[in-house]
Amino acid sequence: MADREAILVLTTGGTIVSHYDGEGRKRYPDLSASAEPLVAMAERAGQRAEVEAIASVGSQDMGRIVWHDLVARIRRAAEEDRWRGVVVTHGTDTLEETAFLLELLVDPPIALVLTGAMLAADNPSSDGPANFAAALSVAAHVRTAAQGALVVMDDEIHAARRVFKRATHGARAFASSGEGPVGFVTAGYVEYGSAAAPFPHRFGQVEPALLPEVGLLACHADMNPHLCRATLAVMPGGVVVAGLGDGNVPAPIAHELAAFVARGGIVVRSSRVDGGRVPCGGEIDDDLMGFVAANDLSPCKARLLLQCLLADGETERERIQAAFDA
Ligand code: ASP
Repeated sequence: MADREAILVLTTGGTIVSHYDGEGRKRYPDLSASAEPLVAMAERAGQRAEVEAIASVGSQDMGRIVWHDLVARIRRAAEEDRWRGVVVTHGTDTLEETAFLLELLVDPPIALVLTGAMLAADNPSSDGPANFAAALSVAAHVRTAAQGALVVMDDEIHAARRVFKRATHGARAFASSGEGPVGFVTAGYVEYGSAAAPFPHRFGQVEPALLPEVGLLACHADMNPHLCRATLAVMPGGVVVAGLGDGNVPAPIAHELAAFVARGGIVVRSSRVDGGRVPCGGEIDDDLMGFVAANDLSPCKARLLLQCLLADGETERERIQAAFDA
């Protein structure tokens, strides 16, 4: 088969394949059984899909080991001539991080859609089957390959760069910052509105297993600088600050960060406010302090971009800032 008609489904675990045991605890199936719920869902959706199991974890345990296998498989799929697109099923806790990382690392581009579920597979009201069917439709759509990585939940199509989990429970748990979703799915019919504007920098040579450690420091009122010092001591390459408002940091923390920059570390200022943009300047003089502003990236996505830039050998603050501004 070389007609590019089939969808490759890669399952990594998450609520979409989970069930509850007799004690009310969520369980993920063994790797060998983790594809089964999705094979059944694909049959019901009537799509030509082949399911491969990459992992079976709650996405709180997602990280470089699973990412390594996932990225390697998608890069290979992009070179094969049989896939119309790829759907990745994933837990919702870190869905936005994997989506953005895949957008950065997968080059050449291929239609790439991630989805999950808020309700377990054995819940009669589970949103998994509908989300999965919608994700298959989006992956099959002719315009999808040009959009970067997309997240499909609740019939909404979100760009990887802007999507975030906004609710811990219930439907409509995902949203996009800025102008909202880039499209919608209605009974299998895909409609794009605005373009997703995928991130322009691609890191086709970077291996997830070799991403350098980058810390994430959450700012809050009355913050103790010892916590900052401890984080910086174990993250010598770089740190992302989830700052206050438009990326502000308390004065004692700014002092620690400036010393870190003087030792050669990279500091990226982002915001703990959902959807908050952090431009250069504002209340903090980034040029003076030697900081980078995260622009529209959330703290966890800024962390992934900084990891990729450092893995690619980028250490110049101005060039790192240019990448965040792209
Ligand atoms: N803890 C689960 C996960 O992220 C939650 C979910 O999938 O909704 O895998």
